[in-house]
Amino acid sequence: MRLAVLGAGPGGYVAAIRAAQSGAEVTVIEDNEVGGTCLTRGCIPTKALVASSVMLTKIRRAEEYGIEIRGEVIPNAAKIFERKNTIVTTLATGIRNLFKARKIDLREGRGRFVTPHEILVTARDGSQNTVEFDRAIIATGSRPLQIDSFPFDGKRIISSDDAVNLNAIPKSLAIIGAGYIGCEYASIFKDLGSEVTVLEKLPGALSSEDTEISKILEREFKKKKIKLHAGVVVEKVVVVDDGVFITLQGGKEKLFAETTLVSVGREFNSTGIGIEEIGITKGVCGEIMVNDRMETNLSGIYAIGDVTGVMMLAHVASQQGRVAAKNAMGGDEHIDYRFVPTAIYTSPEIASVGLREQQANEKGIAVKIGRFPFRVLGKAQAIGEIEGVIKIVSDSVSDRILGVHIIGPHASDLIHEAALAMRNGLTARDIAETIHAHPTLSEGLKEAAEDVYGEAIHTPRH
Ligand code: FAD
Ligand code: NAD
Repeated sequence: MRLAVLGAGPGGYVAAIRAAQSGAEVTVIEDNEVGGTCLTRGCIPTKALVASSVMLTKIRRAEEYGIEIRGEVIPNAAKIFERKNTIVTTLATGIRNLFKARKIDLREGRGRFVTPHEILVTARDGSQNTVEFDRAIIATGSRPLQIDSFPFDGKRIISSDDAVNLNAIPKSLAIIGAGYIGCEYASIFKDLGSEVTVLEKLPGALSSEDTEISKILEREFKKKKIKLHAGVVVEKVVVVDDGVFITLQGGKEKLFAETTLVSVGREFNSTGIGIEEIGITKGVCGEIMVNDRMETNLSGIYAIGDVTGVMMLAHVASQQGRVAAKNAMGGDEHIDYRFVPTAIYTSPEIASVGLREQQANEKGIAVKIGRFPFRVLGKAQAIGEIEGVIKIVSDSVSDRILGVHIIGPHASDLIHEAALAMRNGLTARDIAETIHAHPTLSEGLKEAAEDVYGEAIHTPRH
């Protein structure tokens, strides 16, 4: 079976490898570097920058740990971004080697469907070749959403694609949009020394999270002196020699920043790839419509990842890729989005899985809540990371865990015990009765589970 995969992000490259493992003859078409947004300008580079900013913060707190630093501790932007580039290159080489090992044909160039069984590839030098296939997977991803009244100029008004190659730490940074990208970059640049202001049109930051968790993040932002203006709409951005003036709606308030990052969401890469011409159905926002087998309305053509507009997360794209590859090879796999963990690499980190408390309330589900603050945990005290809380939302009737929300140290790693428990229909009692090693941050989840029943050892019942 000949499979063509359009796009080599975490959706496309995982699908390609899985299909090759099952015996498909796979061709991947990629216009840019393998790894996609995630590897070249998203997940990995931002987490490399997070690592540098966290390291700097730790060094600045060294005295608390009994370490004397003699001399000035200063971030070197060139070296921070160089380190990030090295990590990206290493991982991209890794993917290329995996392709070679699996005999996956990588065609570098821009792909466009010309028939339901052919993709025309145009290379950077203008040369063209055609990939013929039996089945195809579209994995073209997404790009930063631009606001027409203040378009990106790559210098003063930047997107997340520009931020990742900024190679400098701006003196002041105004971030428009307090979603995932805005909040992660606010943490990074504040820790590296920028004056950061975040402008959000909704009433608070990270409004998709459990309200209690977003409130704690807002408190932590305040402590760090990240200024958050929520419930405001940016009217215009005027570029001047040394920065930008931002006017908020109403025209009264004006603020100056050296650079402004616009992070207000993403657009689907679903135009110019020939799919309308071959009759593939798109949704109102341009997302490619798929069923739970990841198949489009055209039999044998699948779509995965950001371009489907389901959940714009790398691990979702990869899982959709695994499902699409299996189905393209004759399987009958169905995707299940109920237990997708999310992790946001702010400082402190946030992670969650399942229903937020407010969502359970909206659905009229009676819940019991268990909470455990990191500050009373031995391990959190030992490592000096005491801010945050673990919160469990469980069903009062069935006792099953409905959602787990964490803000605090290593939240992004801690969440998976909860995801596994929920996927297997376990109760908070099951987590509470599992012996957890001491001292660990995972004990916090056990205590939060005990707290669901009013039985936490290290907190009085609130
Ligand atoms: P993409 O990764 O966008 O890959 C699509 C690929 O298709 C690209 O390489 C593109 O060049 C190629 N392509 C497009 N059109 C064509 C064409 N016509 N011909 C040939 N090639 C084409 N998610 C997380 O889970 N965790 C994170 O920590 C995280 N951090 C992020 C940080 C930032 C700043 C951003 C922007 C995103 C982040 N994301 C994160 C989201 C994550 O990057 C995406 O969900 C993920 O990359 C989607 O994968 P994909 O394979 O669908 O598409
Ligand atoms: P987002 O949807 O997470 O947040 C956009 C924010 O901008 C929202 O809070 C929205 O209310 C606000 N907004 C929209 N228009 C505005 C305006 N005109 N003025 C002020 N605020 C405005 O989008 P994003 O931060 O651009 O990230 C895109 C996607 O990338 C995310 O949804 C996420 O799926 C993915 N991502 C994931 C991670 C991660 O998993 N750690 C990190 C970064 C990005």
